[in-house]
Amino acid sequence: MVSRVIPVDPFDLVIFGATGDLARRKILPGLYRRFLDGQMPPEARVIGAARSAMETPAFREEVRAAIDEFVAPARQDATRIAEFLDRLHYVPIDAKGDTGWPELAAQMRPGHVQAFYFSVAPSLFGALAERLHRHGIAGSEARIVVEKPFGRDLATAQDLNRTLAAHFEERQIYRIDHYLGKETVQNLMAVRFANILFEPLWNAQFVDHVQITVAETVGVDGRGAYYDTSGAMRDMVQNHLMQLLCLIAMEPPYCFEPDAVRDEKLKVIRALDPVDPGDIVRGQYRGTGPDDGYLDHAGNPDSRTESYVALKVHVSNWRWKGTPFYLRTGKRLRARTSEIAVVFKEPPHSIFGEAERWRENVLAIRLQPNEGMNMTVMIKEPGPGGMRLTEVPLDMSFAEALGESGTDIPDAYERLIMDVIRGNQTLFMRGDEVEAAWAWTDPVIAAWESRGDRPKPYDAGSSGPEDALMLLHRDGRRWREIRA
Ligand code: NAD
Repeated sequence: MVSRVIPVDPFDLVIFGATGDLARRKILPGLYRRFLDGQMPPEARVIGAARSAMETPAFREEVRAAIDEFVAPARQDATRIAEFLDRLHYVPIDAKGDTGWPELAAQMRPGHVQAFYFSVAPSLFGALAERLHRHGIAGSEARIVVEKPFGRDLATAQDLNRTLAAHFEERQIYRIDHYLGKETVQNLMAVRFANILFEPLWNAQFVDHVQITVAETVGVDGRGAYYDTSGAMRDMVQNHLMQLLCLIAMEPPYCFEPDAVRDEKLKVIRALDPVDPGDIVRGQYRGTGPDDGYLDHAGNPDSRTESYVALKVHVSNWRWKGTPFYLRTGKRLRARTSEIAVVFKEPPHSIFGEAERWRENVLAIRLQPNEGMNMTVMIKEPGPGGMRLTEVPLDMSFAEALGESGTDIPDAYERLIMDVIRGNQTLFMRGDEVEAAWAWTDPVIAAWESRGDRPKPYDAGSSGPEDALMLLHRDGRRWREIRA
């Protein structure tokens, strides 16, 4: 199967923070890959803007090095790289200053789609929005893309929304959550809403519980001081895990239009019960060697910030009343994996007798590594040994199912940037969604802060704190193994 590349209109994409880590690792190499696949029309241009005083040729050399480092060797072609670099320009700009803006204005081409990617600290979003407006650079159809974190609580998120709204309409604002750009996440919607098979079972009557796991092997290392002001709940649950939960739990939208989808996600967030303090386990990793623990990098030897959190969440509506959603995420865990598992109930009665234990059917949706889906079903154990049951996976890994085109699935950032150029906000968070997610998160954090709780220690390389196991054990359930 050959993947179809849908062309986009000519565009001018300005990347503020073009010399930063995110631009180097993700945005610029991703644009090169889109260029290779024929998705950058000949007139399209990318304009890097950052504080460093630099000329365009030096910027192109930096991007060449980024491509060398972050694009698979098989996709590196000297001629094509040179053609791509020709599309790049650079303008030195201080977001808080007034130089560089006329030069940026001169780079913009009439008739092109205009997109401005704010790949800088959120404290600069307001300054950028205001100057783009004041210097008449961004037209009424221009789009701005903003990175996480979108606030650190409801009040700061509301402030950010107000600041952006002073210069841009909601239809122009693209709040990125790169989890929504993953192939599997979109496939989750296809599987749910393009098949008759799952939807009748997709409710509390048939689903025992749902597990959402985002496990990282990396620690906080170089960015410990920053992370310590955030923690797993703010950094991962409020945005990424919450978005995944919404896609699993939402009602079918009446069409696949941005606001129809986002309205349904918002209803899920609003239906979340406050979390019982007894249903939350926070953890902090301890090192296995010198200078290896969370506290060695946090810049605060008494830090109570969590590098792990597990919680039980209830969605209070007709569809889900009684089906818990267990969420967990953490750093320095055993393996790097992101997975959603929908665990179905056992059949009501075994015709095969008590001796033949069955396992639940599980639909596991893997976001990384090896994006794909896997459904476990019970079958008869092959052979003449009588009617014995065994569990087998129906594996649908995209690389296998889609052949060649499945092995080179575009990175989430590539897909999302192309959606910005197309003007499609479906996979971006709306302002009210972000605020609703903080409104649910804030009291959870406030509760543990007021109690001064210390996170439970867990060993680096483990599956997290023991108490997190208990969170499921006491409900007669168990976490799925964290494995790559
Ligand atoms: P970074 O510190 O590596 O780069 C910041 C960029 O902003 C640099 O290009 C710098 O020149 C520019 N900059 C700083 N001050 C400026 C100013 N006053 N005027 C103009 N430009 C200025 O940061 P990063 O890791 O690339 O992150 C950028 C944004 O993306 C942040 O909001 C971050 O939270 C978010 N983000 C980053 C990652 C990641 O993997 N790096 C992941 C998710 C979100």
